[in-house]
Amino acid sequence: MTEPSETTAEAATLLLRSPRWSVSEVMELLEIGDVEFRRLIEADARLARVLAARQEGQVVIGLTERQCVVCGESFSTATYRNHCGAAACARVSKLNR
Ligand SMILES: [Zn+2]
Repeated sequence: MTEPSETTAEAATLLLRSPRWSVSEVMELLEIGDVEFRRLIEADARLARVLAARQEGQVVIGLTERQCVVCGESFSTATYRNHCGAAACARVSKLNR
């Protein structure tokens, strides 16, 4: 059973992964208002993450979720990096090579 809001959240997540679409454009496209959009973000962790990444100005296309080989923290990357990007983890992962 699929709730309509789940489908909307999924569509919003997909659209917002692309920098081509602005948040207001996506809301218009999916015919949702501010309140509904906020509810979607609260209900959908993936959508919230995509939005957070956009706000940080990251490119979210092709991002994969990985776990840092050093500290175990999960992180997103579009490269083959196997550490979270912290200076200490970068050093240790280089030593391990
Ligand atoms: Zn790390």
